[in-house]
Amino acid sequence: MVRKNKWDLIIIGGGLAGLTTALHLSNHNLKICLIEKNTYPNHKVCGEYVSNEILPYLNSLNIDPFSIGAKKITRFNITNLEGTTLNTDLPLGGFGISRYAFDNLIYESLKNEIEIKFDTVEKILFQDGNFKVSTQNKEIFTAEFVVGAFGKRSNIDSFLKRDFILQKSPWLAVKGHYEFDFPEDTVALHNFNGGYCGLSKIETNAVNACYLTTFKAFKKYGDIDSFQSNEMSKNPFLKEFYKTAKPIFEKSLTISQVSFQKKKPVENHIFMIGDSAGLIHPLCGNGMAMAIRSAQIFSNLFLEAMQKDCFNRNILEVNYTRSWYNEFGKRLKTGRTIQSLLMNPHSSKIGFSVAKTFPSIIPILIKKTHGSPTI
Ligand SMILES: Cc1cc2nc3c(=O)[nH]c(=O)nc-3n(C[C@H](O)[C@H](O)[C@H](O)COP(=O)(O)OP(=O)(O)OC[C@H]3O[C@@H](n4cnc5c(N)ncnc54)[C@H](O)[C@@H]3O)c2cc1C
Repeated sequence: MVRKNKWDLIIIGGGLAGLTTALHLSNHNLKICLIEKNTYPNHKVCGEYVSNEILPYLNSLNIDPFSIGAKKITRFNITNLEGTTLNTDLPLGGFGISRYAFDNLIYESLKNEIEIKFDTVEKILFQDGNFKVSTQNKEIFTAEFVVGAFGKRSNIDSFLKRDFILQKSPWLAVKGHYEFDFPEDTVALHNFNGGYCGLSKIETNAVNACYLTTFKAFKKYGDIDSFQSNEMSKNPFLKEFYKTAKPIFEKSLTISQVSFQKKKPVENHIFMIGDSAGLIHPLCGNGMAMAIRSAQIFSNLFLEAMQKDCFNRNILEVNYTRSWYNEFGKRLKTGRTIQSLLMNPHSSKIGFSVAKTFPSIIPILIKKTHGSPTI
């Protein structure tokens, strides 16, 4: 039987962006429903290094990642194929925490504040100023506003026929947790032919290893173990890692079709936040902070608009779009440039020798892909 539910705001997707928006907007006299297709806690393919950029904001929402053992990270280490190493302090620093624990920390603090449905959204229709959201369990929800927080690639992107979904992406990513002797205060990025791999410690003391590569580089080997020991291990640091690290997961987690194509922050009147609005290259280590920051930007503008005597949807859409580009436009562009430099063996070699001579260039580049902490 089909049931009807009426809400002020529906948030689709309960990753970091969706959960943070829901937490920010709870206790504001709004009827909010969040729809998430998976239960908590769950593992996600992610580098699991979070920039401190969003720490004051999270604290203002009573979320403290260190209360569950997040590791304080202050150092950055990058190596290339030849094993050339560059070390630097991180300008802002960050923390290491698994997505399993981080998303669940926010969920636990939110679960009694708003309605959370575990279901998969299939359709979103906008008509006469209202949304109709239909799910796999044959429920229909209606609301005046919808926030799209469904991540980098979702069935909803196909339903909405978003431009990026029509193009194939060459990128795939693999992640696993390992027992390995690794400094707690460091996030490392190891370059290999066709990709790069991030290593950092998480709250359980395990090391998270997550890499991004192309299908073209991977398909010569066919399976993960062979790719790791024959291609990635050409980098001496990764050779040491994959030789000695003890996997904790039975099987690595994988995703494919990771797209870095441009998206729009508002589509079909849906306010897109987090990866649904745009994904920065993972080597910048800033996607989670951007997801949380976009939740903050949207929530503040939404609350401000709601307080006005005469609410205008169009103005909110224009303001959010403008704020989103102001905040993230330059970072995304810098991320794309760094990624293409690192992925080209020739420019990567030149980049490493320039950075060896002028080490201050690395913190400058990192700053360009990050924002400033705000509450
Ligand atoms: C290889 C890789 C490494 C990365 N490493 C880092 C890193 O070290 N540091 C960093 O800051 N960022 C990193 N990122 C980026 C970071 O993972 C993302 O930016 C972040 O997860 C975005 O959060 P989100 O809430 O937008 O999306 P997600 O966390 O993906 O959440 C989206 C949610 O929507 C749900 N959903 C999707 N479709 C539906 C539907 N139809 N109905 C209901 N629910 C739905 C999903 O189940 C999911 O829970 C990395 C990304 C990749 C690909």
